[in-house]
Amino acid sequence: MTMNAARGSLLGIEHLSPDEIFRVLKSARRMNPLKPPPLLRGKRVFLLFYEASTRTRSSFEVAAKSMGAMTTLVLSSGSSIEKGESLLDTGYTLQAVGADMIVVRHPHAGAPALMAKYLDVPVINAGDGMHEHPTQALLDGYTILRHKKTIKGVQVAIVGDIYHSRVARSAIYLLTKLGAKVTLCGPPEFVPDLATSLAPGLRITRTVEDAIRGADVIMTLRVQKERLAGMKVSLQDYVARYQITLARLKLARKDAIVMHPGPIIRGLELTWEVADCPQSAIVEEVKNGVPVRMAVMARAIGRAG
Ligand code: ASP
Repeated sequence: MTMNAARGSLLGIEHLSPDEIFRVLKSARRMNPLKPPPLLRGKRVFLLFYEASTRTRSSFEVAAKSMGAMTTLVLSSGSSIEKGESLLDTGYTLQAVGADMIVVRHPHAGAPALMAKYLDVPVINAGDGMHEHPTQALLDGYTILRHKKTIKGVQVAIVGDIYHSRVARSAIYLLTKLGAKVTLCGPPEFVPDLATSLAPGLRITRTVEDAIRGADVIMTLRVQKERLAGMKVSLQDYVARYQITLARLKLARKDAIVMHPGPIIRGLELTWEVADCPQSAIVEEVKNGVPVRMAVMARAIGRAG
């Protein structure tokens, strides 16, 4: 049992330097999912998921397998986790059966960091509670770069349930580190004033029109119903005041893109028309998740792609 964060782990964006972020993004750009480099040949990658996932799980699996890894999926239901096994004991078990890397999603903030501290294998955070979702931020940065060529000076409006969103937290760290101008927008339950302390230069507005006006990127977020825990939020009111509609989208720059980490709830945080409009980069984000996760896993074993 060791107590060093395993090298190659990716636990969050908060403690990465801009250089480290760019290194991953550059490596992702070199990854061709149609001609994947066999960097993980013979490696065992465990996908340990304590929470639901479609995009993250499948793209990690596709990325790992296409680079030659053997992947094993462990879900909280149907494994010894159901019998009460602790997170660390599960980690020791996966290490004992030969894990070279563990990708973990967990409902509690800090779970991946705890595993990385005690295990000898790199741990990749695939979303921990309301804390971080670093690979989502990296694929969002990658997507913005493809459209805008730079992140520096790009005007980004993040609209919705920011308080409960690990995606928003990681995106805020990444975008501000790389010089974007970020505006947060939503009702105070979802965007407390305190949110400006997450990073320097953040602006909050309660009016979606104000947030979107002149924006290059509109990042909308799902209302995290599973994390509201007794909070009284009127969804009807939310839709009226904050939903991204085509009329509101017209306030953004003509070449603005609409992003969303998924799952999208059509008719709530955005309309059907916006989800499917030419400015929507939502499906592209999912696609970009594959090269980005290939780069993150190559980094984990010390092989920049
Ligand atoms: N899929 C993202 C996450 O796992 C966003 C969401 O669930 O709303 O955090």
